[in-house]
Amino acid sequence: MSSTTPTAHTTTAATPLVIPTSAAMTWLMGTTALAMIVYYFIGVEQGATAIFNGAQVHEFVHDARHFLGFPCH
Ligand SMILES: [Zn+2]
Repeated sequence: MSSTTPTAHTTTAATPLVIPTSAAMTWLMGTTALAMIVYYFIGVEQGATAIFNGAQVHEFVHDARHFLGFPCH
């Protein structure tokens, strides 16, 4: 015969996450900048708009480019 000890279930009220506006703006701006950089390298970094010579960056993100529906070739 096995006995289990009853466990007490306590509930705590959820506390909303409060972020100061300055910290939220920092995270938003950083995330936006990072997203724009990723967007550029995946979608636009080719040909006349390329920062780096050669096709290494383009080939590195080539599958992501097609997956996201950017025109390529
Ligand atoms: Zn392609």
